[in-house]
Amino acid sequence: MTLSYDLLIRNATIVDGTRAPRTRGDIAIKDGRIAAIGALDSARADAEIDASGLVAAPGFIDAHTHDDRLLFSDPAMTPKVSQGVTTVITGNCGISLACSPANAAQTPPLDLLDSGGGWFRFPSFAAYREELAAKPAAINAACLVGHTTLRCAVMENLGRAATHAEIARMRELAREALASGAIGVSTGTAYAPAAAAPTEELIAVCRPLADYGGLYVTHMRNEDEHVTDAIEETCAIGRALNVPVVISHHKCAGIRSHGRSIETLAQIEKAMRSQSVGLDCYPYVASSTVLRADRLAQSTRVIITWSKPHPEFSGLDLDEVAKRLGVNEAEAVERIKPAGAIYFMLDEKDVQRILAFDETMIGSDGLPHDAKPHPRLWGTFPRVLGRYCRDLKLFSLETAVYKMTGLPATRFGLADRGRLQTGYAADVTLFDADSVIDVADFKNPTALAKGIATVIVNGEIVWREGLASGKRPGKLLLNPRSTGAPR
Ligand SMILES: [Zn+2]
Repeated sequence: MTLSYDLLIRNATIVDGTRAPRTRGDIAIKDGRIAAIGALDSARADAEIDASGLVAAPGFIDAHTHDDRLLFSDPAMTPKVSQGVTTVITGNCGISLACSPANAAQTPPLDLLDSGGGWFRFPSFAAYREELAAKPAAINAACLVGHTTLRCAVMENLGRAATHAEIARMRELAREALASGAIGVSTGTAYAPAAAAPTEELIAVCRPLADYGGLYVTHMRNEDEHVTDAIEETCAIGRALNVPVVISHHKCAGIRSHGRSIETLAQIEKAMRSQSVGLDCYPYVASSTVLRADRLAQSTRVIITWSKPHPEFSGLDLDEVAKRLGVNEAEAVERIKPAGAIYFMLDEKDVQRILAFDETMIGSDGLPHDAKPHPRLWGTFPRVLGRYCRDLKLFSLETAVYKMTGLPATRFGLADRGRLQTGYAADVTLFDADSVIDVADFKNPTALAKGIATVIVNGEIVWREGLASGKRPGKLLLNPRSTGAPR
């Protein structure tokens, strides 16, 4: 009997997402799932792809994104699909579109998601989920709900700790989000609207996490001189709640903290022996967020990514902006806010050490609505594969793929993703390991990466040879303990 499938990928070099050594073979897909893997010479299918010379990997999982709105505003998800990404983790750094009040855009850093376009219109996670179900994107999403968003929803004055009554309201919003399918809560205590939240507030708001198997994911209170204190706070919260924690975009920021990843990784490794700790990283020495004067002293160069009052300054260095305005840099910052910026404040050796750490996932932290975004939005995954794996030999191809697939799938509880294995969802990325590389840079931050051949989501081709197919097979991947629709 000849077996018949929807799609057959022939002659691929299979890197399965588990770190197992690569094999050669065919992959058969039926009804959105991987139906068979191996030598499938006698199999037939409605469509075939010859993957000779290409690697077949599980679709990449972007462990750290701010794509809450991009899923609607660019459902083709071009910045991500073009890198081979098939699932994004959204709602990071304390900020989410879900559970937001209508006036959220007036509170940086929530304006990274929307600075006045009316996107803060999802009072509950269920409302967000319903709209995404009605208007699916090309790729999958698993969503966190943001603690800073919850603060904006229930508090008038963000410059103090929440009262018992406010904590109770935030906790109920968090519970609704988890019950409706959110996979965890994110926090961003490094930012003004959540900086006054003490550890006890974070624990109290996140209390429902344990009931839903949710994660505590954090842009920590500090990433420079007090980074080890911040790691300790994060781990203490995880222990108090008995839930897994994820340290977002781990870095040692500012010249005085360069080299300290030796210390922070040892601290994280030690904590991992007694509790679940994850971390992610992007492959660049520059960070990016809203424009803040307190970052200037830590940075060797600052580039403006957007400015509401002065959009013409997007893409310019801050020193050039200051020159044009005839003021010093600190004054220029005040004049062009609200705005965003790129800060050159990390050390390449730290970036490499963190990337190479066994448990580090790859997360772009891309900011999709910036006029001149940090190139990580369009380049992260090909850059890890091309520059850090192939050229600098920081790790093997099997390990690079694992950091983008099997590892984040396990960490975020995406039970049937992140591996090429029979029965798993058919999210597959085909790429040329010899030529894959990021092209986006600080001058041309939205240039398409090279070497990503074909991207398949839930069995459907969404990207092929540099073009989107227009298909929208993406699913919202719900917390399995939620009362939502089946995954
Ligand atoms: Zn962040």
